[in-house]
Amino acid sequence: MTYDLVVIGSGPGGYVCAIRAAQLGLKTAVVEKRPTFGGTCLNIGCIPSKALLHASQMFAEAGKLAPFGVLVEKPRLDLAAMMKHKDDTVAANVNGVAFLFKKNKVASFIGSGRLIVSREGALAVEVQAADGARQTLETKNVALATGSTIAPLRDASGAEIKIDEERVLSSTGALSIPEVPQSLVIVGAGVIGLEMGSVWRRLGAQVTVIEYLERILPGFDAEIAQRFQKILEKQGFVFRLKTKVTNVARQEKGVAVSYAALDGSGEGGITADAVLIATGRIPYSEGLGLEEAGVALERGRVKIDEGFATNVAGVYAIGDLVRGPMLAHKAEEEGVALAEILAGQHGHVDYGVIPSVVYTHPEVASVGMTEEEAHAAGRAVKIGKFPFSANGRARAMRETDGFVKIIADAATDRVLGVHMLGAITGELIAEAAVLMGFGGSSEDLARICHAHPTLSEAVKEAALAVDGRAIHI
Ligand code: FAD
Repeated sequence: MTYDLVVIGSGPGGYVCAIRAAQLGLKTAVVEKRPTFGGTCLNIGCIPSKALLHASQMFAEAGKLAPFGVLVEKPRLDLAAMMKHKDDTVAANVNGVAFLFKKNKVASFIGSGRLIVSREGALAVEVQAADGARQTLETKNVALATGSTIAPLRDASGAEIKIDEERVLSSTGALSIPEVPQSLVIVGAGVIGLEMGSVWRRLGAQVTVIEYLERILPGFDAEIAQRFQKILEKQGFVFRLKTKVTNVARQEKGVAVSYAALDGSGEGGITADAVLIATGRIPYSEGLGLEEAGVALERGRVKIDEGFATNVAGVYAIGDLVRGPMLAHKAEEEGVALAEILAGQHGHVDYGVIPSVVYTHPEVASVGMTEEEAHAAGRAVKIGKFPFSANGRARAMRETDGFVKIIADAATDRVLGVHMLGAITGELIAEAAVLMGFGGSSEDLARICHAHPTLSEAVKEAALAVDGRAIHI
């Protein structure tokens, strides 16, 4: 039997691609080497981190209900139950993917997949199960969707700092710490570091974040990041910016982290119960057979054209393995677009409109150009801002931290970017993405009626503020 498409990897890119391909009538199989489907995102990424972020936020809020007239005893933590909530959430999601494969008649194989290209150019995927058993799936097309893994951090001597998931943690270990650490050092002030830092800070850990750059959240709008840093500091985060970690040494109890200030002002050290290395992720293609198959890479990622095709006929790649932001929804969009292209349709991803969310409290959400990017691109822009402190619903919720910022083209008024800091802005950003997807202007947004009282009125008011006509400020 020959498949139309074999997808290697069942993360958001791979599983969505397989389901869409099957919907479009392609005979499709998925190969996954983990025991469960869903990839990094569902097993050790987006889903378990959000389960812990939500639960830990409820714990934090339970202690602050008195201003609402709700008097409760000091909340106590049952960490094992919180971890069970996380594990149950993961199980429900990964089982959901297995169900969807069955429903859509996607054949699934658990085992490590390797791309094989014959001398004549015929394609196959060899699947090796955990017990060593092998089988070969012949196919017309292959989608590589093997995702990414943790980027290693090197000490001052260039040696890789070893992750033991006990005291020296990756994000995976940070999702399953058995006891709340008294102190946690986080290397890297990016999304994963700040999300996992928020979880453990809320549960009682002293959190120190060491960051190489002079700011937190690189890639996000600088003004938003600056305000966000102040809010996190109020929550008890300590930041050491412009600082390079030079060594991480396990000690009898805990771990010692050495660092050097980048401005030459000196070196220092900090001991903690654990350290989380959150310095980024790199594409993962170990054992995939890319070299033997002659698949070309660029800067470590599989090189693809606009239609996700690699240089080898019939072999495509999507998700974290290829260029672009390492985000689950970007991988999903690529999965759908690739399936549609293979079915003869016109699949397409609008890379200018990929939202990015930090699921802390408050949340940070962004889509499109930052103010810095707009200036660097030489665009003349108009900017409208509106604070949640002037929004009635936000006041009723005591969620007045943060603001909405809209960046529009000075000449055409087309919205180029929207950046938000505030409660549930991860949901509010979808409105901005839809507007930008349709090429909308700030005037379009400003003239749309928003329900009152909602936080979304702050988005409308920011659009009004682009031309200096916000009502409530
Ligand atoms: P992956 O999800 O990495 O899936 C690849 C799959 O391929 C894996 O299951 C792997 O086992 C399998 N595989 C690898 N090699 C082989 C092989 N040879 N044979 C068979 N199978 C193989 N993104 C967001 O958008 N929102 C978030 O909130 C978010 N939170 C995150 C939190 C954490 C802690 C982490 C680590 C990541 C988070 N991400 C988030 C990023 C997100 O997880 C990735 O962008 C997304 O999973 C990429 O999808 P993918 O399909 O490309 O690859």
